[in-house]
Amino acid sequence: MTTTLFGQLFLLFLLLSISTRLWLTVRHARHVGAHRDQVPPAFAEHISLTDHQKAADYTRAKCSLAIWETLADGIFLLALTLGGVLNAIAITLQSVFGTGYLCGLALFAASGLISAIMSLPFSLYRTFVLEARFGFNQMTWRLWFADGVKGLALAIALGTPLLLCALWLMDAMGEHWWLYVWTVWLCFNLLMLAIYPSFIAPLFNKFTPLEDAALKERITTLLSRCGFASSGLFVMDGSRRSAHGNAYFTGMGKAKRIVFFDTLLKHLQGPEIEAVLAHELGHFHFRHVTKRIVVMAFVSLVLLRVLAWLMTQDWFYLGLGLQLGAGGTAMALLLFSLVLPVFLFPVAPLFAALSRRDEFQADAFAVTHASAADLTRALVKLYRDNAATLTPDPLYSLFHDSHPPASVRIGRIAQTANGQPLPAGQSA
Ligand SMILES: [Zn+2]
Repeated sequence: MTTTLFGQLFLLFLLLSISTRLWLTVRHARHVGAHRDQVPPAFAEHISLTDHQKAADYTRAKCSLAIWETLADGIFLLALTLGGVLNAIAITLQSVFGTGYLCGLALFAASGLISAIMSLPFSLYRTFVLEARFGFNQMTWRLWFADGVKGLALAIALGTPLLLCALWLMDAMGEHWWLYVWTVWLCFNLLMLAIYPSFIAPLFNKFTPLEDAALKERITTLLSRCGFASSGLFVMDGSRRSAHGNAYFTGMGKAKRIVFFDTLLKHLQGPEIEAVLAHELGHFHFRHVTKRIVVMAFVSLVLLRVLAWLMTQDWFYLGLGLQLGAGGTAMALLLFSLVLPVFLFPVAPLFAALSRRDEFQADAFAVTHASAADLTRALVKLYRDNAATLTPDPLYSLFHDSHPPASVRIGRIAQTANGQPLPAGQSA
């Protein structure tokens, strides 16, 4: 490949990615706006017009922000690469730190710092203006600042050794370095998964054992009915930051924990919480998490192999606005991670589709082990309380959504429930 051709290919993919995103976002905002004045008939009984309109306005406000963010990200990437900013930074750092590992670390630090500064206004606007306007933000400036400092400290503490290790392997292991880096990367991710619930999550939130005896009894019964063992039921103080509610599983093997956001427990009744948990158990039953880890492991192996090839090609650097040798090995890794999303954007819908398939499976599992009516009621409440739109643009949803649209999902739950005998313990 020639330098010019690669540069043009990059530009083409970047323009395609930005214009597709913008087009879908505008479609979505229009679609939601066009359906603002009427609650879809299937939901009319449970969702008021006021709530429906709030969801529409919230969705459209998020779309406006996403448009600006997409544009800013595109310009930022162009400036870094073809605009020569990254090249200038690399040359300056090399003149200060030489060409060793210190220069590599400084290069990643500088790039991280610039991208943090770029995304800062959006993150501030999202939390303190957008989320606040719709009554979701519970975050104080103090908490926001503390989160930032902790996040940065964590990134430095975990990222520095990982990066140094990767750079050393890339230099020292010959042409098969990518196999070594992949092994380290995989181990690192598994380690993170193992230590996240006990060591990292508690840095940001408080976890207290679930105390509600009746609910505990209900959940324990559900767990034994589904054949699950868990090392604990916890409540997380999600309300410190946001009014959005959720529940999730975390940890691996015997260290599995079930975590409920306090906001979820506040808004749902016992049977509804049971149904939501049954859905989460469905994800576990079908090993969705494990499958995702396997897919990611395979994808990262392929990507590292591609990087091993790319970093030996001059056009990879020259075509993206770099001088040969600027930033050394670290530049190859950094450049790859910066431009990769641009080339991968056409496969994003594939991953969204896989995720939606998992959601359907988990719902089907939930319906056989808990009540379909309760699951539906819980979902409708969650849509309402999170101001999630019931009328997404179909194409936008197909491209971006990890969860099926509300009407499709609830329709499928009803279908599954009708085709199956009533769960044990329930009378008709
Ligand atoms: Zn799910």
